[in-house]
Amino acid sequence: MHLRHLSLTNFRNYIRLELDLPLGLTIVQGRNAQGKSNLLEAIVYLATGKSLRAGNDAELVSWLVRDEPYPFARMAAEVARGEKRDQIDITLLPSRGNGRFRKQVRINAVNKRAMDLVGMMRTVIFRPEDVDLVSGSPGQRRRYLDIALCQMSPDYCRALSHYQKVLTQRNALLRNLAERGRSGDAGAQLRYWDEKLVESGGLVIARRQWLIHELEKDAAVLHLDLSGGVERLHLRYLPSFDPGRQPASRGAVISTAKLREQGVSYPDLTPEQARASFLAHLYAGRDRDMAAGMTLIGPHRDDLGFYLGEQNLRAYGSRGQQRTAALASKLAEVAIMTRVSGEAPILLLDDVMSELDATRRAMLLEVIPQVRQAIVTTTDWDYFSSGLLDAANRLQVQEGRLSAAA
Ligand code: ATP
Ligand code: MG
Repeated sequence: MHLRHLSLTNFRNYIRLELDLPLGLTIVQGRNAQGKSNLLEAIVYLATGKSLRAGNDAELVSWLVRDEPYPFARMAAEVARGEKRDQIDITLLPSRGNGRFRKQVRINAVNKRAMDLVGMMRTVIFRPEDVDLVSGSPGQRRRYLDIALCQMSPDYCRALSHYQKVLTQRNALLRNLAERGRSGDAGAQLRYWDEKLVESGGLVIARRQWLIHELEKDAAVLHLDLSGGVERLHLRYLPSFDPGRQPASRGAVISTAKLREQGVSYPDLTPEQARASFLAHLYAGRDRDMAAGMTLIGPHRDDLGFYLGEQNLRAYGSRGQQRTAALASKLAEVAIMTRVSGEAPILLLDDVMSELDATRRAMLLEVIPQVRQAIVTTTDWDYFSSGLLDAANRLQVQEGRLSAAA
């Protein structure tokens, strides 16, 4: 897979960009606030239909055109696979003057849903905030799993979005019941939403469990290299209920503290098994959910744990240990994506060199030859060896304009 050409119009601080990209390594150098992250954000948006940082799509449209009568932003990519060429095109258009934007996705000039983008162009992005994956919030770790899984399979993406919609509805019902008291058919209503929730939730649980197991295999090996240590890195799935066990009887107080601390490992768990178990746990936890006015268990409460031996790195690891583990699992993602899809993803590194010490930087750079195309941003050329610089396509960015580096 090769991102051959990128076009941006009114995307953040890029008013107009037409950029050819070769295979191999491209390094984009620029001072702070010139457009390094914006460039990679646009590529990820084209790959996934989502921004990693914008709360809403309006943020992506250049400020300079906001007051025009018909403001819009456009991102387009030409992707090559062997002889095949695909054109991905996303336009953000104003939706009826309410300050919001809707997105129009076209693939090879035919209108498509955002979901259809999945698999057209796969990316692995490593950003400065990913360095803090181990110490960051559970939500950040769930997002990390979701972005990888979504790019690997459209059905995961569909299940996740279905799950989120149903969860909102089940929570609305629970809130209602908590405020107004239980009505006669509360049980039947909940049962309806339980079944809908586990329908997609089961797949989300099983796939996350699978990915964590896969990540662990590759990350452990990489970690030994990175740390020069002897202790093996473990990645564990930390769910809010144990999908491999029957729930305690209805209403019984169960402690999830141990589960959240030590995690579980069921690499072969099927979506059907996860579904059945999730349904049983929802039923057993119904009284608690009604009292709380929300759904207390499920994939929306999942977490991912990193361990060295028995030591939980989030709680006990040094900053250096946490960063090494994050780097190892990020690099593992490249290997898994390659295995699953049969082609290496496009590697995007957003100014992470400055976050790492010399040893980890060297390890990170070793992954570049394993992919066919890498786009790396940096504030400083000095992080790269002269050998790497000579072989790279070197660009410079200033105020949203790219040019060949001097
Ligand atoms: P750093 O080294 O600090 O990470 P960067 O080169 O990655 O910097 P970007 O995050 O790409 O910088 O941002 C570049 C500029 O784009 C910033 O000055 C930001 O204010 C600007 N910007 C962000 N959104 C918009 C927008 N919608 N319209 C115009 N400019 C924007
Ligand atoms: Mg940046």
